[in-house]
Amino acid sequence: MPPNASVTASSAAQPAWFSASYSLRAHNTFGFDVRARLACHVASETDLLAALRDPRAAGQRLLVLGGGSNVVLTRDFDGLVLLVGLRGRRVIREDAAAWYVEAAAGENWHEFVAWTLDERMPGLENLALIPGTVGAAPVQNIGAYGLEMAARCASVRAIELASGDVVEFDAAACGFGYRDSFFKREGRERFVITSVTFRLPKQWTPQAGYADLARALEARGRAAAPDARDVFDAVVAVRRAKLPDPAELGNAGSFFKNPVIDASQFATLQAREPGIVSYPQEDGRVKLAAGWLIDRCGWKGRALGGAAVHERQALVLVNRGGATGADILALAQAIRDDVRARFCVELEQEPISL
Ligand SMILES: Cc1cc2nc3c(=O)[nH]c(=O)nc-3n(C[C@H](O)[C@H](O)[C@H](O)COP(=O)(O)OP(=O)(O)OC[C@H]3O[C@@H](n4cnc5c(N)ncnc54)[C@H](O)[C@@H]3O)c2cc1C
Repeated sequence: MPPNASVTASSAAQPAWFSASYSLRAHNTFGFDVRARLACHVASETDLLAALRDPRAAGQRLLVLGGGSNVVLTRDFDGLVLLVGLRGRRVIREDAAAWYVEAAAGENWHEFVAWTLDERMPGLENLALIPGTVGAAPVQNIGAYGLEMAARCASVRAIELASGDVVEFDAAACGFGYRDSFFKREGRERFVITSVTFRLPKQWTPQAGYADLARALEARGRAAAPDARDVFDAVVAVRRAKLPDPAELGNAGSFFKNPVIDASQFATLQAREPGIVSYPQEDGRVKLAAGWLIDRCGWKGRALGGAAVHERQALVLVNRGGATGADILALAQAIRDDVRARFCVELEQEPISL
């Protein structure tokens, strides 16, 4: 049985307020220096409720930010930014089949995944090294290397901004989809997620079907019977080799979702583009690799001003320095237009832009 090792932090202190014109540069991974009228760092649910009741919050538009790794901030934010800093993680129960682990919204995602493995509770290793916080993970149902967080989510606890009510969502109520959830659609700007409970099954089998991952395990001589730590290490190695580190080159990861099209459209496309990268879906439709489409349009490595398409990964748009959120959106629009013209496929933006 894993030790119930950790503490749920709670703060008796008041939330920390930052006055007018607070720079969000350190709070978004593109590194855009936009400003918020007001910002408030909340370290507990009590802080959050106090902030929402504070006269300074009255009438303000609210923006919730975790690590800022899935947003494009295009202009100053005329409202109150809630900086989610709730910490704590613990095993809340276990049964014969699974461990139930609760993590507060402000926990760093990757550190949380590493901790579950340290505590010998596998199940999240495919999602290693995704930037950001635990609280944002359900918002777009983060996914990588064949696993989505929805597969491990037991429930989400949130506070409704308008009423201050605590609401518990079971996994079904979260409305998870591909890079999507209730919190990214109808629930957007209505709830602050304060913690997430994960169900980590005790019957563990590795998910190492993705070609890059399989190759990395092979290279380590661990392809035959990898354990969760092997998968974690391989995921970290593959991601480090493929993706730019936002600390060195501003970006928000994949800028577009992989489009899903129907089988007849795919047949027409494949006849014209035999090398097209595709993944058949259970419902008969076909998922295309957006990065491949962008690459074929000649965008990999190209720039519009300081906004550029990454040289190794066409799905990632980067701030080479001096770009604004508007520059990134202009580049994204040019890419979308070219992909539509060449493939008759619509690319949908993954990060939220404001
Ligand atoms: C290099 C890189 C690689 C990435 N790789 C992946 C990947 O493999 N798979 C993947 O799915 N994503 C990936 N991403 C995207 C991103 O890391 C995830 O979406 C992550 O979950 C965002 O977390 P965050 O704390 O930074 O969220 P933020 O960017 O701060 O917020 C994102 C959205 O969630 C909302 N939000 C944040 N916290 C809360 C909360 N507590 N309650 C309610 N709403 C909230 C915000 O208002 C905003 O709308 C990558 C990003 C980068 C930079």
